[in-house]
Amino acid sequence: MDISVVIPVYNEEANLINLYNRLEIALSSLHLTYELIFVNDGSRDGSLNLLKGLAQEKGVKYIDFSRNFGHQIAVNAGLDHAHGNAVVIIDSDLQDPPELIPELYAKLQEGYEVVYARRKQRQGESILKKVTARLFYRIMATITSTPIPLDTGDFRIIDKKVVEVLRQMPEKQKFVRGQIAWVGFRQTFLEYDRAGRAGGETGYTYRKMIRLALDAITSFSNLPLKMATVSGFLVSGIAFLLMLYTLYARFVSEDYVPGWSSIMLSVLFLGGVQLISIGIIGEYISRLSDNVRNRPLYIVNESNIKL
Ligand code: UDP
Ligand code: MG
Repeated sequence: MDISVVIPVYNEEANLINLYNRLEIALSSLHLTYELIFVNDGSRDGSLNLLKGLAQEKGVKYIDFSRNFGHQIAVNAGLDHAHGNAVVIIDSDLQDPPELIPELYAKLQEGYEVVYARRKQRQGESILKKVTARLFYRIMATITSTPIPLDTGDFRIIDKKVVEVLRQMPEKQKFVRGQIAWVGFRQTFLEYDRAGRAGGETGYTYRKMIRLALDAITSFSNLPLKMATVSGFLVSGIAFLLMLYTLYARFVSEDYVPGWSSIMLSVLFLGGVQLISIGIIGEYISRLSDNVRNRPLYIVNESNIKL
């Protein structure tokens, strides 16, 4: 098998047939052997039926989850069952153009292990989404030492070697583009214009995006924890100076009109710093306990692949 294509699907009935047709055209132009692996991530529309139809008529592979586990986990399930020497990860809403796959593949053949597709422009997405995404990649770049490429989703082609390493990474919080950056090897990119969604609507609610961002940050940076420590020292330093001043006012200048504003300020400020620090620690601990529980990453309902 030369190429496996991994396609996470969540409520994409409007796009699947179109996607399949475009993938077929793009891939058959390469004259290679390939497989399409659709991972149905608990869709509530007719996606699963369409996939079963495609499986029967066209021989595509599908994995159906028992519920919605999330985009990144769906990608992981696809990677777990891919047999190709190269694996393409692509969204099913046609925001990632299948027509780019031959170029990605050609670049991979030049001797790279990872070729990711970087979006030059994004169309048809809300300003808020574009701004938060932009900000997210910039913040990630400053707080981690892993060189996660800016403005790049999961659309990419990776060599089997990389897939094998990813399969061995045991963490339960998956941020695939970060993991791939972390793995190393020779990586390069192509640029493309990102289209709007072909049909249907986004499955990424803000809740899911915040979760992805927190998973990414906690998996690839310990800086927030260190910031909690630093702010603790900083606040203690200020408190110490204020203590000296208080003693001086009480015993030397005897000028100690009881002032509630200073007390209020310090109580509020300290309370704030403490709560934020506890929250940061909590984010890490909750992920630690996820990993300790060691539950399966996903549950398969049915599949036409021998699992
Ligand atoms: N997706 C998924 N599970 C989810 C949400 C999304 O598998 O819980 C899939 C979705 O079908 C698509 C890809 O992940 O193939 C990207 O999602 P979407 O297009 O909704 O995100 P956006 O492009 O708006 O960030
Ligand atoms: Mg999309």
